[in-house]
This record gives sequence, C-alpha cells and structure tokens, in this order.
Amino acid sequence: MDLRELLVNNLNLILDPTAINMKPSQFIAEYGGNLSKIGLVVKPPSGRVFYDSSTAPKDPVHGNFLNEFIKISSDIFDVYAVVNTLLDNYMAEDPKYSSVKSGGQISATHICPSEMTVNYLAKILEEVAQYPVKGVILAGNTFTNRNYCFCDNCKAEFSQIAGIPASFDFNRIQADRDLQSKWLMWRADKLSSMITTLVERLRKVNEKLEVYSEIYLEPAVNYTENLELEYGQNVESISRATKIVFNIHPWTPILPEVNTTEYNRLTSSISKSESFKHRDVKPALLYWNITGEDELNIIKSIADKISAEEIYTYNCYLSGYNQLRELHLGR
Ligand SMILES: [Zn+2]
Repeated sequence: MDLRELLVNNLNLILDPTAINMKPSQFIAEYGGNLSKIGLVVKPPSGRVFYDSSTAPKDPVHGNFLNEFIKISSDIFDVYAVVNTLLDNYMAEDPKYSSVKSGGQISATHICPSEMTVNYLAKILEEVAQYPVKGVILAGNTFTNRNYCFCDNCKAEFSQIAGIPASFDFNRIQADRDLQSKWLMWRADKLSSMITTLVERLRKVNEKLEVYSEIYLEPAVNYTENLELEYGQNVESISRATKIVFNIHPWTPILPEVNTTEYNRLTSSISKSESFKHRDVKPALLYWNITGEDELNIIKSIADKISAEEIYTYNCYLSGYNQLRELHLGR
C-alpha cells in the first residue's frame, strides 16, 4: 500500500533499509513531515546489523544506516530500534549457538536462547542503547515451532530437571502429560528470562528506554491457545518485562472479515488475556504488509476492539518470508 497513505492513517512504519532504495536523507526529506515515530530495523533476520558494531557483523551495504539516519532524525521524530533476537541466520551457522530440531537437525535460521546467546544479544543491545533512540522493539523472540530446541545444552539442562536420560526427543515429551507440562514451562521460562535479562542490560545503559516484545498471534496455533506449545511465548510473563506488540497473523497473512467467528476468536484472545484484562496496559499491533484499503480497515477495527495503543507495519514482508513461514507452520 502507498506509504504516505499509511502514515496519514496514523500507522507507524517499521523501516527495513534493504526494502527501500533510498538513502536516509532522501527518505526523511520525502516522509519526515508525516512521521512522529518510526521503527528502524537495526538487526535484521540475517544477523548482519545496520550500525557500527564491535559485536555483530555489519551488513555490507547498509552497515551505516542507523548512524546516518539518526543524525538527521533525532530532533524531528522518535526512533525505535528493531532488534531480532533468536531469528539470526548468521549466528545460526555457528553450532555453538544454533537451535536444533527434535531428532538432531540444525536450524539455519534460529539460535537457542542459551546463556551465551543472551550475552551476545545483550552486548548488541548495549551498543544500540548508546544511540539517541526512544526505545527498542525485540522481534523474533520465539522458538521456530514445537520441535525446538533440542540442542545438547537444552537436553542436558532439562534432563537434570526432569530426571530423564539426556537422549530424549519431542516424541518422548509428548507421550507423557506431566513431562510435557514441565517441558513447556521450562522452555517458556527460558524465553521470558532471556527477555528480562536483555531489558535489565538495556536499562543499565539508558533507564528511560521503552522496550517492546513482539508476540505472534497466529491462527494456525489458535492464537494464544497453543502459543506456548508452539513458539514458547508466555504472554503473562513477557508482559511483566516489556510492552507487547502483537504480530497479527504473521504466518497466515489473510485477515478475517470484521465480526466473523475467526475475527472474534482473534480479538477475544487478546481481550481475555489476563495481562490486558485488569491492567491499564495497552498492547500495540503489527501487521507485516497491508495490501489495500480492506486490510487497513480490518486492522484498524481490530485495534479499536482491543484498545490497542498503536499499529505498526513493515509495508512489506521479511526477506526469506516464505521459508520462515513454512518453518513456523511446520510440525
Ligand atoms: Zn537449545
């Protein structure tokens, strides 16, 4: 959809430098007047960052984007740095970091939320927090699907807790109700405590930073119903650490018509959630790519219905979207 039209409708853009063919100065000259805030991808799924890092590899083409952008923008509008956490193709090449599927297949896209990973990400966030950004949006904070993570570390840690041999796989977990609920809780805790630690480390650099976490709201896993089983995300505990951005239909990019059964299932999964029922905290929404007026109206209606504070869009799909989609819907 035309970017200006989205901005006029008060949507917030998440800008991925690889998706526009413009220098920061050109982009700001063209759209700056319509912006009050913007999400700027600084660590994309590739893992090669768009700023001068001494921790992560720099993107060969857009490695100075954040520096150049923020020099011009910082007095005009607020910038929120978007940092992909566990979705990191570069680090996934290193077997010490990569996530592993039940059965032993090494992930090419995701890393395991191990202590080493948390440390690596914390260093990156500490660097990002040195820039004059208003906040940080943590994206891709998920396991790929229910078959992850079965790396040696995860297996060793969980086998200790559960008192089972370290050679287990997902079939073994699934066959035992008690074991499965222990596994789900342990795995979700691992993800939530990663986020909590990252927030602590960020706030040590700048205590005023606003922090958001992206949570998938995907119909293929019945929204919040199987969210923990599939992606390891526990809305309750993550929302205690950060504000929430719900990524609506991330892997099934068709929105339900307003007031249909599916639409009601989607909106009630948020409004019934304990995190948003009693507290005065409002979530934000994200939809990758709004293709036209109809989708814009549906997303605005969802935002209204759940009293969302704001709506973000990339106005495009992530690079490698089709592969990621299959992985996230895979069993
Ligand atoms: Zn692992």
